[in-house]
Amino acid sequence: VDGFVFDVDGVIADTARLHLAAWRRIAEEEGLSFDERVAGELRGLSREASLRRLLDGRQIPPEEFAEITRRKNAYYLAAVESLGACDALPGAEKLVRDLARLGIRCAAASASRNARAVLERVGVRGLLEAVIDGNDEAASKTGLHRFLLAAAAVGVEPGRCVVVEDSAAGAATARSLGMRVVGVGDPAALCAATLVFESLRGVDARILLKWLGAARSPSASLTTIRQ
Ligand code: MG
Repeated sequence: VDGFVFDVDGVIADTARLHLAAWRRIAEEEGLSFDERVAGELRGLSREASLRRLLDGRQIPPEEFAEITRRKNAYYLAAVESLGACDALPGAEKLVRDLARLGIRCAAASASRNARAVLERVGVRGLLEAVIDGNDEAASKTGLHRFLLAAAAVGVEPGRCVVVEDSAAGAATARSLGMRVVGVGDPAALCAATLVFESLRGVDARILLKWLGAARSPSASLTTIRQ
C-alpha cells in the first residue's frame, strides 16, 4: 500500500449527521417520507442523487428541483458555520498523520462540493497532499471517479491505494475500481470493505498497513487477514 484516499463526511468530519438533518428538514417541508432506511441510503450520495432518492420516483419541474437542492445546501452550510476542530471524527487526524510519517501518500476525496470548507474548519486540510471534491470531479475532463482522481493526484496506482469510506455506495464503488477499502461504521452496510472499524479511534497505522498488505486483492475478506 502506497496511498490512502479518505472520504470526508462521516470519515474525517462528523458532518454526515448534518447532511441528514438538512435532508430531514427538507423532507418535512416537502411532505416526503424520511426514516432510518432512507437515511442510510442517502449516505454518500450526491446532492442531486439524494433528492431523487427522497422523491422516490415523484417527478417535479427542474426549477423546483434546483430550488430544493439550493435550500438543502443553505441549511447544511448554516450548520457548517459552527464546525470546529472538535468536529473531526475520533482517530482520523491521528491516522492521517501516522500514515504520512510512514511515507504513505494521503489524499481526500468527497462527493461534497463543500468538502474543502469542512476540512479547513475541522483543521485537517493541511495534513492532506491533495483534495478532490464534488466540483473537481464534475469539472474533470477525464470523466474519472473522484477516488481515481485522488489516487492520481498523489501519484499512486489505484491497486496500491486504500479508500476509507463510511457509505455502502462509496465502498462498493472503490472496490469495483480495484481499490482496497477500509469501512468506518456499520459492518452490515459496508460489506464491500476489506476491513471495517466502528470508528477510527485507536486504529494503529502500522498494524492497519500489515492487515491491508495481507489482503492482496480488493475482494479479499476480513476473514483472510491475520494480525
Ligand atoms: Mg461519507
